[in-house]
Amino acid sequence: MKEKSVLEMRGIQKSFPGVRALQGVDFTLCEGEIHALMGENGAGKSTLIKVLTGVYTKDEGQIFLKGKDEVNIHSPQDAQRLGISTVYQEITLCPNLSVAENMYIGRTEGALQNWKKMNADADKILQSLDIPAKASQQLASCSIAVQQMVAIARAVDMECKVLILDEPTSSLDDNEVAKLFKLMRDLKAKGVGIIFVTHFLDQVYEVCDKITVLRDGKLVGEYEIADLPRVKLVSKMLGKEMDDLSDIKSEAKAYEEKDASEYVFEAKNLQSNAGIKPFDFYIKKGEVNGFTGLLGSGRSECVRAIFGADTVIGGEVKVDGKSVKITKPIQAMKNGIAYLPEDRKLDGIVGDLSVRENIILALQVLKGFFKPFTKAEANKFAEEYIKLLGIKTASADTPIKSLSGGNQQKCILARWLLTKPEYLILDEPTRGIDVGTKVDIQKLVLKLASEGMSITFISSETDEMLRTCSRLIVMRDRKVVGELKGDELTQSMIMSTIAGGESEK
Ligand code: ADP
Ligand code: MG
Repeated sequence: MKEKSVLEMRGIQKSFPGVRALQGVDFTLCEGEIHALMGENGAGKSTLIKVLTGVYTKDEGQIFLKGKDEVNIHSPQDAQRLGISTVYQEITLCPNLSVAENMYIGRTEGALQNWKKMNADADKILQSLDIPAKASQQLASCSIAVQQMVAIARAVDMECKVLILDEPTSSLDDNEVAKLFKLMRDLKAKGVGIIFVTHFLDQVYEVCDKITVLRDGKLVGEYEIADLPRVKLVSKMLGKEMDDLSDIKSEAKAYEEKDASEYVFEAKNLQSNAGIKPFDFYIKKGEVNGFTGLLGSGRSECVRAIFGADTVIGGEVKVDGKSVKITKPIQAMKNGIAYLPEDRKLDGIVGDLSVRENIILALQVLKGFFKPFTKAEANKFAEEYIKLLGIKTASADTPIKSLSGGNQQKCILARWLLTKPEYLILDEPTRGIDVGTKVDIQKLVLKLASEGMSITFISSETDEMLRTCSRLIVMRDRKVVGELKGDELTQSMIMSTIAGGESEK
């Protein structure tokens, strides 16, 4: 099958004062192809997309459509007219208008005047794309995932040949991601070329045909998905040799031999109101273990039960061998347990507060709000951890919301490390952050464990868990279905444990 290019970008240059954001980048997108654009934060992905969509004007280089016509794109309207559409992570539609209105607003004169026809047309498109929404429904009444699909439907209906999805899955659950992928595949079958920007490696391998990797504003290469195994992709993005990454693995392995024997935390028949089956669990001093399983399998619910973040409705818990009651986070904290939640936007950061205030928050809660730290004390804590974790911030006074996602995550990690926990629970600490910070956090986990901290680590990326954990608890359908350690710690054993065991029916 000969591939026809819908889009070619050649030798694209773009500089900002003091930064060469793109240095002669080539990018080719073919018809009916889903193409991942990958690279660490700052690699130039957004700049390339903004050049393509007319938000920025390129300094040099050429853009061709359909393999022949050179085009000039100076505004988003130019891009739209040429069939290049973008759906951003933040949905830019109007929630209080109907689905159909959102699909047609700002388009051909008259479309909005004939309501009947507009609704009928919209329903036809929604149906053809299998999008679970009605034209007349208010957009706000749709889930975020469906709203995103409506945004895509709008783009597609505008004769789009090139669809750009910039981190569309960050706020979706697994079910919604599956629906979005189906939609992407349908569009691909209709010949649309899709550029997919994401931090989730699993998703790249699930849905993409090709990968283009950028690093420091330069093209690293374009690869067929089958030719670029994950580890290689990561090393291309990082620009580091594989050795740096296998290093991490050997650290995790070495730990197992000097396994300590005491249980820092132990639970029997622990059950919460979040719909997980009662489960047994323990962790030893200096151990890194993890919960693995598909998204939605109940991993987070298990650790939330351990920390008392959900309502605990049954089970016995021991900390350092002593029976204790943990039904609220504050009780867990007083027993030396710390928990970094999955959704840092919802449960984690306090956006308007400074980096310093965010860092000292958990320690302040433990001490009691009536005994506030002095500014000097707070500063000392904040400065220490900003340095330790390499948090990139102008100062400790900077509002945390102005930091990048990876640096916000490090602040939350600092918050919990400051409480000097005996047992640290990290739920998706590396989700949606750049690869460099990911590796920093993995290394930190192993270092803390080597100093005696016990850590439970959850990540959707199994290779990350294999690198850090010496024992994995496998979940399926809200139930613990297996445990892997030693030689069993492989990608394929995880898969077969998730897939295997008792049958569902
Ligand atoms: P990515 O999307 O891969 O994270 P970007 O394209 O956003 O990377 O950024 C590439 C480089 O260009 C970074 O060094 C970034 O700081 C810089 N940059 C991006 N946009 C601007 C801008 N509007 N002004 C100045 N520098 C910018
Ligand atoms: Mg970007």
